[in-house]
Amino acid sequence: MIDDFTQLYYLDSYQSEFTAEVTAVRKEKNKIWLSLSQTCFYPEGGGQPGDRGILQVIKPNKQVVKVFDTIWSDDVIWHQVDLLLAKGTSVVGQIDFAKRYDLMQQHSGEHIFSGIVNREYGYTNVGFNINSTEMTFDFDGDLNWEQIAEVENEANQAIYENIPIEIRYITQSEHDAWTYRSKLQLEQNIRLVIIPGYDTCACAGTHLARTGEIGQIKIIKRESYKGGVRLTALCGARALHYFQNILQVMQSVGEVMSANPENLLEKIHNQQSEISDLKFQVNKKNKAWLDLFMQTLQPKTKRIILTNPEFAKHEWKYACQYLSEHVSEFAGILTSVAQSKQLLFLCSETQDLRIMIPKLEEKFNFKGGGNATLIQGLLQAELPIIEKFLNEIP
Ligand SMILES: [Zn+2]
Repeated sequence: MIDDFTQLYYLDSYQSEFTAEVTAVRKEKNKIWLSLSQTCFYPEGGGQPGDRGILQVIKPNKQVVKVFDTIWSDDVIWHQVDLLLAKGTSVVGQIDFAKRYDLMQQHSGEHIFSGIVNREYGYTNVGFNINSTEMTFDFDGDLNWEQIAEVENEANQAIYENIPIEIRYITQSEHDAWTYRSKLQLEQNIRLVIIPGYDTCACAGTHLARTGEIGQIKIIKRESYKGGVRLTALCGARALHYFQNILQVMQSVGEVMSANPENLLEKIHNQQSEISDLKFQVNKKNKAWLDLFMQTLQPKTKRIILTNPEFAKHEWKYACQYLSEHVSEFAGILTSVAQSKQLLFLCSETQDLRIMIPKLEEKFNFKGGGNATLIQGLLQAELPIIEKFLNEIP
């Protein structure tokens, strides 16, 4: 697969600086691409994003050019840059190694996890992607959380063992002697990434020297995907930062709830049941109030506009519909949401309320919508003015 020593990342995945000459230039739409005589910049491929960094012109002006992305296209590695450099320009290239190292932690972690899944369950990794915050991998079979935890424990064991990760190129003739995972088309020289005892996989990506550098691997999400499962995982500092954030949220929630992590869930459950009891009581009282209110209505009442009722927000629509059943034209609920800004619910059993919309738009800059029996939206005006308008509209 790899016999080209211009790809310095295959000689040493920890090399971050190199010198090279610009060998070709390509301009496409608003993008400028350069190829170099040799490079440490890994081009996007096999789920691993392309490297970023800088190129510094050696002579005469020490100009610095940014590299936004690196891709492999038509057998050439192209560096996407922010400034055109002439063919033959000598540069010192420097990759963003912190980012590369993070990607290597993710990629090596994925190999261990996928290797164990393949050995234990026979599933194949059929999709792999690392973005700037997470990585996902897809398997052609399902795993539940219990199975995920078992694989996770074993994968982390492989990390604690700090095993050297080997890279080996095998030829077609050696091919039959090896068993390995592969998503790639087999070529002349096959590059194997070997984590003894855990995984052997054909892969073109950059990897760590030892498993211990992965730090840890943690699955944070599982979703059903194309008859199998998609897992979202974090390795290294990403996992640490994720748990730092979670702990901070837990501590803040704990302070609000006067709870510690051990009894937090119980306290939340208790509070939820208290809230639903209270909601039930409030609903009951509001219904009773509406019934009493209804009794005060004169027979043949045409319309009712309730202003700023004591109902909770989720009850406004229901209350408005309930009132509309007892009047001959329409019922409305008008609630102040800000200064000179009112929320209106209007319901009718007998009239098509859509004809009201243009009038409300013209008069009160109505922003909302609805259907024949219910309209709702925001109005700009003082509440009594709108109330008067609704009561007097022909
Ligand atoms: Zn790989």
